[in-house]
Amino acid sequence: MLQTIYLDYNATTPVDRRVLEAMLPYFADIFGNAASVQHVFGQRALAAVEEARGLAASIIGAQPREVVFTSGATESNNLAIKGVAHYYGRQGGRGRHVVTCCMEHSCVLESCGALEQEGFEVTYLRPREGSGGVFTVDQVAEVLRDDTLLVSVMWSNNELGTINDIPGIGRLCKAKGVLFHTDATQYVGKLPVDVAQARVDLLSWSGHKMYGPKGVGALYVRAQDPRVRLQPILDGGGHERAFRSGTLNVPGIVGFGKACEIAQQEMALESVRLGVLRDRLEQGLLNRIEGTSVNGDVTRRLPHVTNMCFGQVDTERLMLSVPEVAVSAASACTAAGARSSHVLKCLGLADLKIHTCLRMSVGRATTAEQVDYVVDRFAQTAIPAPV
Ligand code: PMP
Repeated sequence: MLQTIYLDYNATTPVDRRVLEAMLPYFADIFGNAASVQHVFGQRALAAVEEARGLAASIIGAQPREVVFTSGATESNNLAIKGVAHYYGRQGGRGRHVVTCCMEHSCVLESCGALEQEGFEVTYLRPREGSGGVFTVDQVAEVLRDDTLLVSVMWSNNELGTINDIPGIGRLCKAKGVLFHTDATQYVGKLPVDVAQARVDLLSWSGHKMYGPKGVGALYVRAQDPRVRLQPILDGGGHERAFRSGTLNVPGIVGFGKACEIAQQEMALESVRLGVLRDRLEQGLLNRIEGTSVNGDVTRRLPHVTNMCFGQVDTERLMLSVPEVAVSAASACTAAGARSSHVLKCLGLADLKIHTCLRMSVGRATTAEQVDYVVDRFAQTAIPAPV
């Protein structure tokens, strides 16, 4: 069988074996409904969910009751943005203006688009010239208005790995009395998060980006100072403090909790190891392939990801020629729509140039040998496209 090398950890990660082991009993043995607490089956399921909630809270420095389990970051982002807008919009008074960035994930952009259809006003920040795609506090400060209800800025970008000044923006929003949401899907589990220090009111993250199962995620909802209120998306039995109705996905939640626990324990060492591997990959490609360059600010970036242009090379052809190596021509979600990356467009890259770009992300199973193999194969195969 063809040996494959996976360098697309930003798209998804494999479930860690330790996570899988933790989940297995909750399918057929401890199968109770966590809401059926009159009997021991339900009580055991509930105990497991609450243990996972504690682990999930711990990795972001939250209180367990501030964690709402969802089906993933798409749902968390929808719930945060629409939930705030609909709850406070209905109350009147708090305003109907939302601020976000053009480089957000499609689920944030589309949620904001849906609000615009309802009459909300949305300001989409564009990256400043020379910023490398990093958004700063003063940019947000410039567009805040008296009627701004919510600011939503991602902690780090899924395509570039760039890191925004979330604590700075959090402090600004707090001072102005504006609610602040961050999509931290790519950040949690990679570098330390403290929602108290970052003054975040709402934070989304997802299991499958951190060696947990797919289809489970969480939304942090600040309970105090201020207590954040949301209009739920789903009507139902009032699970998850009525923020998210529906019988809880107990095995998924247990896996999510375990994934958070492992990431929290291993983050310090693993982020250094991954940084070394990413730099080896990036430097190798920069040295060996003419005309390569790195997209986005390289000084404020997650340690495991690089987004590169390959001079004149058509990267779709490159990927076809090296099928044993899994990388991403754009983010997985935009690739599904066969669109060129809106993130790179926002960064100012022309369509033709975007076709020469790849995102590569290393992870737990990546080795130096794999990185060297990829550099060699790409260097041998990268043939400039005919002009
Ligand atoms: N936000 C970001 C930044 C992401 O990278 C992703 C996954 N591509 C999502 C949200 C959506 O997450 P999920 O797959 O859990 O719905």
